[in-house]
Amino acid sequence: MVKTYTGSCLCGAVSFEAMGLSDIWYCHCKQCQKLTGRYIAAAGVLRENLQISGPVNWLPISEKSNSGHCKSCGSYMFWDEAARDTVSVLVGCLDDTDGLDVMGHIFVEEKADYFEIADGLPQFEGFPPGGTRQEGKDV
Ligand SMILES: [Zn+2]
Ligand SMILES: [Zn+2]
Repeated sequence: MVKTYTGSCLCGAVSFEAMGLSDIWYCHCKQCQKLTGRYIAAAGVLRENLQISGPVNWLPISEKSNSGHCKSCGSYMFWDEAARDTVSVLVGCLDDTDGLDVMGHIFVEEKADYFEIADGLPQFEGFPPGGTRQEGKDV
């Protein structure tokens, strides 16, 4: 059965339901560093399986992608690139992460130098070969 995950921003003005999330990836790209101060943990959901309620501020952060933030508290909640069929949900906004594993680190080529990744998880310079969606998962 596909699990529906729920989540919200810090102030609660924006909430969402995501039906079927991929496992979690840590992204170390410069965008994520600038937006959050460090790196993000994100999981993907098919665009049609994500239902958002509340005022989201979609900001263009590159020529291809937008970041979604609560208009009231500014929480960074979503990353969306029109060419992809999934939207990334920032894991910190989820009410629970039951059943989600961390797959590894992406865009480590852009990682900040002041810390080392020492968790033994796979690391990829950019997107992993085959993408961030996993075989056998309904996402
Ligand atoms: Zn909020
Ligand atoms: Zn990133």
